[in-house]
Amino acid sequence: MHSHHSAKGLVSDLRPVEPVTLVRPHAARRAARYFVENFPGKSLYAVKANPSPDLLAILWDSGITHYDVASIAEVRLVARTLPEATLCFMHPVKAEEAVHEAYFKYGVRTFSLDTLDELDKIVRATGGAQDLNLCVRLRVSSDLAQLSLAAKFGAEADEVKELLMATRQAADALGICFHVGSQAMSPHAYVQALERVRAAIVEASVTVDIIDVGGGFPSTYPGMEPPPLADYFAAIDRTYEDLPISYSAELWCEPGRALCAEYSSLIVRVEKRRGDELYINDGAYGALFDAAHVGWRFPVELLREAEGEEQAFSFYGPTCDDLDHMAGPFYLPADVKAGDYIEIGMLGAYGCAMRTKFNGFGSDVGYTVSDEPMASLYLGDQRPAQGATVTALFPAG
Ligand SMILES: *Cc1c(COP(=O)(O)O)cnc(C)c1O
Repeated sequence: MHSHHSAKGLVSDLRPVEPVTLVRPHAARRAARYFVENFPGKSLYAVKANPSPDLLAILWDSGITHYDVASIAEVRLVARTLPEATLCFMHPVKAEEAVHEAYFKYGVRTFSLDTLDELDKIVRATGGAQDLNLCVRLRVSSDLAQLSLAAKFGAEADEVKELLMATRQAADALGICFHVGSQAMSPHAYVQALERVRAAIVEASVTVDIIDVGGGFPSTYPGMEPPPLADYFAAIDRTYEDLPISYSAELWCEPGRALCAEYSSLIVRVEKRRGDELYINDGAYGALFDAAHVGWRFPVELLREAEGEEQAFSFYGPTCDDLDHMAGPFYLPADVKAGDYIEIGMLGAYGCAMRTKFNGFGSDVGYTVSDEPMASLYLGDQRPAQGATVTALFPAG
């Protein structure tokens, strides 16, 4: 088994030709423990952020027992990987066949919905089951988040009363859920959304058993450094405690990004430099979809000793497509050149999960490392470099 003391040691020993994924189980464990111990309710992991079975096992071992799944393939994956996990099917638009299979074959009891049609679908597909937890998804503002989730899903204010009353009739437990958008930069996003929840409960006068504040908990990236998660939890707790709900009601959340962003980074090689543009061997069709399509900035580090000033670079990925471009800016030493290796950090969420094999690129080479991620919401912002070790996880054959 290969063993190295750092990503730098790994590249000088192996000179990898393909991009290499580094995973940090200890970082995912730390994030999961933080949610389990500090969120004032139950934390469901949103599987779409990173469905790696290794990661699912780490989260389970760290106390995450509930999983937010959005497709029947995610239902099957989590059921196969974690047979004792509780699955919650939180996509508000599902195939009737998927609801049927989830309910009858995998014991899924929790579903979300945002229309009367979807409610009918769930009732039909489960044979009029009496043991359902049904969560009505409200449309809320994404103003305080970096990525909007406000356009596609969620019942509008004028539909909510009827939908809550009808869902109450069909549900054993009635929930209300929302998603404030991904990478919510202020705790106030949740306070605002919970105020919408309050108005909906008052208007419909229904008994609500579950309040699910969804995902959106941030990680930390260049130019997107949020307040501490403790501030989010405190704001949610305060507002929740004040809602007109039964005292036995449960509070849930569905973190994706916050649980796994620190889990992975990527080592890429520079194949060409053209001015301040670097042609690297991973890109928009690999782990850098968000860097290309929504201008997300990830931290970068040159994996060799370098002197002098840093300057701003943009990246081109390896495919023959102009869209395979990451504008950055990514700050690196001015003398970076072809043959150099770069570590791109914080790709555990919506990074590795988005990979394709388009144009024959994309690689499954990975190593487990024990050093700290390039940034952390759970450590302050220092990155202790000493004592790092790297072990082979799934090296190229
Ligand atoms: C994507 C998603 C999440 C996770 O969102 P993050 O911003 O990654 O925390 C949670 N719930 C639902 C319904 C989602 O679609």
